[in-house]
Formats: sequence, C-alpha cells, structure tokens
Amino acid sequence: MRAARRHGVAVVTLVAAGFAAACARGAGRTAPAGGQSVVLVSIDGFRSDYLERYAPPHLNALAAAGVRARWLVPSTPTLTFPNHYTIVTGLYPAHHGIVNNRFRDPSDGAQFVYTDSNDVRESRWWGGEPIWVTAEKQGERAGSFFWVGSEAAIQGVRPTFWKKYDDNFSAAARTDSVVDWVTRGDSLRVRVALLYFAIVDHTAHDSGPDNPATRAAVLGIDSAVGRLVGGLREKGLEDRVNVIVVSDHGMSPTSPERTLMLDDYLDPSAYDAASSAPFLALTPRDGNVAAALATLRRVPHLTVYARDSTPEAWHYRANPRIPPVVGVWDDGWLGGTRDFYRRHPPRAHGGEHGYGAETESMRALFVAAGPAFRQGVIAEPFRNIHVYDLMCAILGLRPAPNDGSLDSVRTLLR
Ligand code: AMP
Ligand code: ZN
Ligand code: ZN
Repeated sequence: MRAARRHGVAVVTLVAAGFAAACARGAGRTAPAGGQSVVLVSIDGFRSDYLERYAPPHLNALAAAGVRARWLVPSTPTLTFPNHYTIVTGLYPAHHGIVNNRFRDPSDGAQFVYTDSNDVRESRWWGGEPIWVTAEKQGERAGSFFWVGSEAAIQGVRPTFWKKYDDNFSAAARTDSVVDWVTRGDSLRVRVALLYFAIVDHTAHDSGPDNPATRAAVLGIDSAVGRLVGGLREKGLEDRVNVIVVSDHGMSPTSPERTLMLDDYLDPSAYDAASSAPFLALTPRDGNVAAALATLRRVPHLTVYARDSTPEAWHYRANPRIPPVVGVWDDGWLGGTRDFYRRHPPRAHGGEHGYGAETESMRALFVAAGPAFRQGVIAEPFRNIHVYDLMCAILGLRPAPNDGSLDSVRTLLR
C-alpha cells in the first residue's frame, strides 16, 4: 500500500490490470441480474492528442484495458452545449435544437444563454431524447452530475439523480457520487450515470492547450478517472459497469496577432451576433443577408455561408434557431468588435474552440473499457452522433430515432 502510494504509476498499473482482468472474467459469464451499466464521463475540451502529449496514466490505462478511437469527430459548431447534447441524443445540433451556446427562437424572440441557470432548465429548448430519458422511460434509472440538459424536464422526464450546475463541486465529490449511484444496493441504483468536468477547458481557454497549466488540469482530472475506476473495482462491480470517457471538442491556441477587428469591415450596429468567433452566427438587422455575406467575404481568415447553404457535412441547416449568416474562422484566428476586445483582450497564451469540426485541433476524446468493450483496440475516428446508439446497445435500451448508427461503432464491442 505504501509502495503503491509512493509510486503513482504502480497504482495505475494495478487498477488497469484489475479492470482488464475483471472484464475478461465478465466476458465468459452471463450478465448479472439487471444487465450492464454505463458511466459516461465528459472532460470538456480534452483534445485527443492530450493522451500522448500529457500521458495521463489512468486514461491511457483505461484505453489499454479497453478501446480508444484515434479521435472522436465533433459536430458543428464545435461548442460545449451543442456537442454535449449531441453525444447523449445521437442528433446533430440542428436536429436537437441546441444550435449554439447562445441562440434565439425567432418565433417569439426568446433567447437561450448557456450561462443562465433559468434557461438551461427550460424544457422548450431541449429537443430529441437524451439517454437518461430513454432509460427512465424504459424503467431504468439514470443519474447526471452536470451533463448539459439534465436540469430540464425533457418529455416531462428528469434523471432520478441530477444536480444544479455548480463548478465548485470537487472532482472527487462528483466521482464519489457517481460511484455511489451505480453501486448502491437499493432500487435507486442507476444503469446510466453521466459525469462532467469543466476544468481542462477552462484552463486551456486561459492558458492555451500547450501550457503546463493545461497539462496539470489534464492530470488532475485523470486522477478523478482513476478514482472512478478504483471505486468501481473496490465495490467489485467493474465486470458490470462500462466506463466511457469522451470530450465535446478540442482546443486551438489563439493570439492577439491572429485576432481581427470586425468593425473594420462591418458596422457593429448593423447586425446582431449570437457568436462571432471562432464560430460566427449573426443576423443582419436590415434583413439583407446577401449584402452581409458579400461584406464578410472580404474578411481574411473567415469563411461565411447563408444558413441554408452550409457544407452538407455540417448537417447544420433548416433550423430557424440558426441565424441567417454563419461562418468559421481559420484555425487559431479570431474576430470580433473592438469594444468586445477592449473588454476582453485576446490572450497571448489563450485557447479557443468552435473551429471546423474536421480541424485537427478540434479532435475530441473517446476512450472506453468494461465488459461490453473489446480489449486493446484502437478504432478509426467516428462521429459523436454514434455514442447514443452505442450506449443504448450496451444497456439493452430501444434507441429513439437519431442520426447515428450502431454499425458505425460495433467494432468497439465484444
Ligand atoms: P464553452 O464556452 O463552449 O467553452 O463552454 C464551457 C462552459 O460551459 C464551461 O465554462 C462550463 O462551466 C459550462 N457548462 C458546462 N456544462 C454546464 C451545465 N450543465 N450547466 C451550465 N453550464 C455548463
Ligand atoms: Zn466544451
Ligand atoms: Zn470552452
């Protein structure tokens, strides 16, 4: 025990080896009563290459005991709310309705702002069927520690356990709650638990993805992953519980040298911007979309589209919540009003996401292990719309209609 504490790596090896061995044992058995469970963990903004660059020991041990994708392909726009809700519904953002972190419903002008605790609880915004609703509707329990959308009643349903978002909860407290939910001995035991961490994203926004502070944040959350796996193992449930760790998007370094002032091209009073960079979403006040597009096409490092002619691969059209003009900046570039950058000066060592979903820096994380998963497999990249069907298959739930397919991820499963 003392040796294990002194040599963190030894602990890691033991936990991972135990997990893999238990998975192998589980494979030969019939599923315990109640079937397998899933813990879905999100590490916001975890770029897929952090696995190599920062060598987080517990995540790499989990990948070795199970599977990883070379990377997970995020959906457009590569922002937190749209992607978290895609991962749990299998729907592209234009289809589930959370089309940005902030957006307007043109039918009555109401606005959704992701930092507003009333907005995130309002049912009207949340379309589709998240995994916790699928589970609860089919008689299984779900619990969410801060997953995007889980504070709202969706189709009139909330998870059995849920929390009001408060980032002051320690990673250890979050993890221990989730271990408790999936291992409890009473009728409240959950089959699907969701767990969310923001700090890797926060730190890289402030310091950049290459900064030692981001490395420290990655290793800190990696310890929580170790605590989760260790907690499940301690309760003897690692042969019943699958742990899936994902992220919503990656992170790109930004710089004042790559930040443009949009006022040099477009009068700030002439448009209403839901977001301006790295993902641009704006409504010209005079309704003249063609003129706004023509003007914005003169801005270097920015590519703009009319809402209904965005690239097909984005699947980002035909939702009235998407403003008429959308665009993305080239990787690492930013643009906004002078006033905005006066109030929030661009950082010399900052980071952003929202760039194109195919951009290398936006690649997200997928690592999973447990009785449902093969061992030691590194899969080709796949889109995050498939994670919902994957979870439904493991849990034996009938998936709601969605954009993903189990066939795209079947190779991960035993
Ligand atoms: P972004 O601005 O796209 O980087 O969004 C990340 C932010 O979303 C983080 O600062 C989180 O604090 C916040 N966030 C993540 N999940 C939730 C949630 N369930 N409720 C409210 N805010 C959240
Ligand atoms: Zn995010
Ligand atoms: Zn972020």
